[in-house]
Amino acid sequence: MSEHTAITLKTAAGRALLGRCPCCGEGKLMRSYLKQVENCAVCGESFGQIRADDAAPWLTIILVGHIFLPFAFMVNVDWMPVWAAMGMWAACFAILALAILPRAKALFIAVLWQTRAPGYKPVELVERA
Ligand SMILES: [Zn+2]
Repeated sequence: MSEHTAITLKTAAGRALLGRCPCCGEGKLMRSYLKQVENCAVCGESFGQIRADDAAPWLTIILVGHIFLPFAFMVNVDWMPVWAAMGMWAACFAILALAILPRAKALFIAVLWQTRAPGYKPVELVERA
């Protein structure tokens, strides 16, 4: 096990938001759109047992629905038909949600990893169970 307590939460979160391993900042954290790697390819830190559960969709909904959606009401789209405006906003928010979701998951994995929160089980405990 690495000494990841020396890595600050801010550093770990920043690395995860860039898609990098929160521990070393070099290896990839995600192996597909929403699946994290089992172990970092560079430092070997284990992430496969961390469960972010519903935290990532929750944060995505908060950001898209409560932060970005109000901006849609501030933009004047009277010049375009209603059906076109609705389609444009639906596409914008779908793209925004799809962009935020994997980053939110990476963020929560980093937070769980750095704080050793209940969603984090060190490999040696998983193997004993
Ligand atoms: Zn690493």
